[in-house]
Amino acid sequence: MEDNRNDGRSTEPVRKKKYKILWDRVIVAAIVLIVVIVIICVLISALVGAVKNAFKKDDDSSSVKANASAQSSIADSSPESNKEDEHMFTVVIDAGHGGEDIGATDFSETRYEKDDCLRIALLVEKYLKEKDIGVIMTRSEDVYVTLDERCRVANDADAALFVSLHRNLYEGEAQGVEVWVNNSRPVVDTALAQNILDGMKSVGISEDRGVNYGYRGNELVNYQVNRETDMPSCLVEMGFMQDAQDNELFDTNIDAYAKAIAEAIYKTACDAGMVEGIDRTLPEDSSDSSDTSSSEAA
Ligand SMILES: [Zn+2]
Repeated sequence: MEDNRNDGRSTEPVRKKKYKILWDRVIVAAIVLIVVIVIICVLISALVGAVKNAFKKDDDSSSVKANASAQSSIADSSPESNKEDEHMFTVVIDAGHGGEDIGATDFSETRYEKDDCLRIALLVEKYLKEKDIGVIMTRSEDVYVTLDERCRVANDADAALFVSLHRNLYEGEAQGVEVWVNNSRPVVDTALAQNILDGMKSVGISEDRGVNYGYRGNELVNYQVNRETDMPSCLVEMGFMQDAQDNELFDTNIDAYAKAIAEAIYKTACDAGMVEGIDRTLPEDSSDSSDTSSSEAA
């Protein structure tokens, strides 16, 4: 019934209707286009903001230390980070153990690891300060400090490097110096460890036990100070408490060891571009870098 009426009319109104529908579509298309442009603009500004933030502050993902450590050094060296303007950079010196935690002992059980660690840590602090390097000590006296607290202090201070000083314990015959690094084998951490080992070796050690990754006996886990610090770190085992020669070397060379460790820290910071005015960025692949390698023989 209605069909007949419509069919009977002229084609004029039909054409008008078609024309109207076309305009509707144009308006809808224009609105969609505007919405799309607005969304793209919002996305671009969000992306730019995210990229800026990523470059401004250190990567939060401390668990992925391997890649983050190399980048954090670049971030630290940027002119924006003038948080410690009186120092070139800040390093945390962590004297192992302390207080009721005596650490390892010698055979007579009269010599404690905690005391040796503090003695050399205070000397390292002295030599670093002579170089105008900022130093944060996790302890400066015979007190107990938890491992959590040691890491927290370093992370809160946004320190550039972290060096934990220990002496070794092994039930059996062993001697020499070894350094431990996070098992993700980060570049700057490894360089820090190797520089410290090379420095102590040049003073004189009983045996070079090398730079090691992970935890003794299990490379899959890490020492807490290497696992939970956000900056390049290493743990130095400066000879065995139960080896007479290592103890003698430690006592004789403690001042020279401290100086060598301070020099190694400074060298690492320079090579990693952490020191303002000195830009000697560590090569990604350190194996083929004959021009920047140290003069000391391997
Ligand atoms: Zn220890």
